[in-house]
Amino acid sequence: MVCEILSVGTELLMGQVANTDAQYISQRLSALGISVYRHTVVGDNVGRLDEALATALSRSDFVITTGGLGPTEDDLTKETVAAHFGLKLIQDEASLIHIRDFAERAGKVMTDNNLKQALIPEGSIIMPNLNGTAPGCIIEKDDKTVAVLPGPPSELKVMFENSLYPYLQKKSGQTLISRYLHIFAGESIVETQLMDLFHLGTPTLALYCSTAETTARLSVMCGMDEDPSPVLDPVENEIRRRMGDALYGEGLTENLPHVVLSLLKERHRKVSFAESCTGGMLASALVDQPGASDVFDESYITYSNEAKQRLLGVNPATLARYGAVSRACAQEMAQGARARSNADYALSVTGIAGPDGGTPEKPVGLVYIGFADKNGAFANEFLFKGDRTDVRTASIKNALNLLRLALLNDNDR
Ligand code: ATP
Ligand code: MG
Repeated sequence: MVCEILSVGTELLMGQVANTDAQYISQRLSALGISVYRHTVVGDNVGRLDEALATALSRSDFVITTGGLGPTEDDLTKETVAAHFGLKLIQDEASLIHIRDFAERAGKVMTDNNLKQALIPEGSIIMPNLNGTAPGCIIEKDDKTVAVLPGPPSELKVMFENSLYPYLQKKSGQTLISRYLHIFAGESIVETQLMDLFHLGTPTLALYCSTAETTARLSVMCGMDEDPSPVLDPVENEIRRRMGDALYGEGLTENLPHVVLSLLKERHRKVSFAESCTGGMLASALVDQPGASDVFDESYITYSNEAKQRLLGVNPATLARYGAVSRACAQEMAQGARARSNADYALSVTGIAGPDGGTPEKPVGLVYIGFADKNGAFANEFLFKGDRTDVRTASIKNALNLLRLALLNDNDR
């Protein structure tokens, strides 16, 4: 089944609102194995909407429209779709009662223009609107289907999940099962190491990169009761084998701070941070995770040289000789944070996030990440690319990854 999404709304064309409805629907359709070939946007204009609908139906089996179901004059989607198929609009009693009740609950009186929202193309399947007034509908004509959804995302999502998704699931009889593997390495490195696995056909392998890391998505199309494991397991195991310790987690919502937190908890360890250019981002990334209090007591933001000396005990001679952005300073920051907080581990970050402050010797993107544990301290040098946000994000991710790798080897309880 080939599907096309037709979003209606002048506000979308003018760039006032991003088309998140189409994004949402596309994500959900891919989970059903339904191919979306096109997103189209048209303004609130009957002629152009009708033309776009005709074009969409000429090349797709299934068209989903979003928006234009409201009570106002510029909301014309249902009328235009009905006219396209030569269907009359008839009043739906249940929808009318719902609209009246909804208005009353909101402390409003139903106005005459609300009446038009209860009009449904004859013979269509009605999709109730649990978060608003305008119902949606599904029109089946010959071998084509059009589903009409409201524009406001809160209304669209609930209607999609409650009515359209089950309808489509029944129709397609299959579902796309995906596994997500998170790898701490850049996309090109991962791609090179997994090159041959992209050509398997089944399962399909795709990579998504974000700062400093890559997610591999492994997918297979299955019947509703089919077990995907025989297809997915061997390829997943092979990816795990090749990626080794760089592979840090799995699942759509997994992230590095959560993995680090879990490892700290498992091993009953605590961590502290000493941050300069990241200004608390490391601590924040950890505290974003529920349960951080088990592994985290205190942290230091030491932006000035004076603060580095006073709060962390960085030696003034180190600062004078090597500067604040230096391997020696990062190492002393980590040592100081560990000693003063009584944590098992400490991480430090000092660097030049830009856009200003770079020199030929110390360019923007130069970052030192320090690490301290009971065995001592060291610092690594990095040169990150990108803008200020990229540099700071790469810094905290690399710091957390350093801790993750140390924790994997921390086996003495
Ligand atoms: P209403 O009853 O609110 O008029 P409607 O179904 O007529 O609902 P529209 O008038 O097209 O929907 O859009 C209402 C609002 O919903 C827009 O102002 C916009 O904020 C949001 N919206 C509409 N379409 C989209 C879209 N494709 N993606 C994200 N938001 C959207
Ligand atoms: Mg509207």
